[in-house]
Amino acid sequence: MKIAQGELVIHNGTLILGTGASAIPCGTVHLRDGRIAYAGSALGAPVLPPGTPSIDAAGGTIMPGLVEAHFHPTYFNVAALEDLDIKYPVEYVTLLAAANARLALECGYTAARSGGSLFNIDVWLKKAIESDITPGPRLAASGREICGVGGLMDWNPDFRKLGMEGLVLLVNGPDEARAAVRKLVKDGVEWVKTYPTGDAAAPDTNDHHTLCMTFEEMYACVATAHNHGLKVTGHCRATAGIKNALLAGYDTLEHATFIDNETLDLLLERNTPVVPALYFEQASIERGPEFRMPQRIIDGHIECREGGAESARRILRAGGRLGMGGDYGFAWTPHGIYAKELSFFVKYVGFSPLETITCATKTGAEIMGRDAEFGTLEVGKLGDILVVAGDVLADIAILEDRARILAVLQGGIVKAGQAKSSIERLNTATH
Ligand SMILES: [Zn+2]
Repeated sequence: MKIAQGELVIHNGTLILGTGASAIPCGTVHLRDGRIAYAGSALGAPVLPPGTPSIDAAGGTIMPGLVEAHFHPTYFNVAALEDLDIKYPVEYVTLLAAANARLALECGYTAARSGGSLFNIDVWLKKAIESDITPGPRLAASGREICGVGGLMDWNPDFRKLGMEGLVLLVNGPDEARAAVRKLVKDGVEWVKTYPTGDAAAPDTNDHHTLCMTFEEMYACVATAHNHGLKVTGHCRATAGIKNALLAGYDTLEHATFIDNETLDLLLERNTPVVPALYFEQASIERGPEFRMPQRIIDGHIECREGGAESARRILRAGGRLGMGGDYGFAWTPHGIYAKELSFFVKYVGFSPLETITCATKTGAEIMGRDAEFGTLEVGKLGDILVVAGDVLADIAILEDRARILAVLQGGIVKAGQAKSSIERLNTATH
């Protein structure tokens, strides 16, 4: 990805560093060659030559670009699980994924970790983003997801003679789990997404208290992935699935919905980050009836919302790490509303706006293993920055409103927001 050349100043805004430290009123950020040269109070800022290009935050907020920690660029607002494997061919899904990546960047998300991909699109989407062919968040790519035969992601009965090749690799036993990970190694993914447990979406055979993989299968995934330098995450709702994932050495957990004292202790001991993705539950409850979701499924989502919110509160209060990612890409959680996750954590779960933003920036970058490069506004890091009109700490929902996004920068280059056209005019004038 290209990086800016020369100097740029972002000034006149409340500065959130993303480190968890209190916001700095009248903050300024200086960028030199796309990296942060100063981030702090305007009073202590070095003096720059007159005429240095600048972005006026107009009394709004200057903060690190957001990190979507559970992103599905290839999910295209699906209304039923079956849509994922039979609705569109790979060609069209690829185009949809590129459009979703652009949208995420325009919403202020400068980085994202995939939570699973159709076909092997994420790996190539990442390459296209890194090569500036298509705009999008800096991406950590997943591939096809791994699930036990008969588990949550194995929904086509055999008589239909429909495979699930585009979406999942179905495994029976540790040998097949190992083979599936080896396939993903060759595909070039960074993250192996697995399904240790079921979900409220499948109440008959794979509900949120059902296990969909054995410990042996999970351990085989981790051992193989780690041997090749890949990381492993998993859809973990049931307590026993969370425990299995932690004991197997998972690098992160998705959801970790029903955590008990024992699994919380294990989680803290291993410092494993969790991405709860809770707004998905809320949206399923609120909008499920519109999409003819049976009441049994909605009841399961209510249980997951309550369990997940309680687990998230316990993890944060005990000093654990949480990333913000929302599983967006379903009909009731369409792409483009990613920041609803953050509002939900403030308004429903009870996190402070600053805690929520730290999860959505610093911890997101840590999950991606790229916290030395971005996630906080500290000297030397990339200029991946979000500038928003309004006080985000007073009203986190401001982040949901794209009209209030003044600038989204990656490596000091303005990629989206209202300031984009004025900065481009300035650049053409100076070159
Ligand atoms: Zn997901």
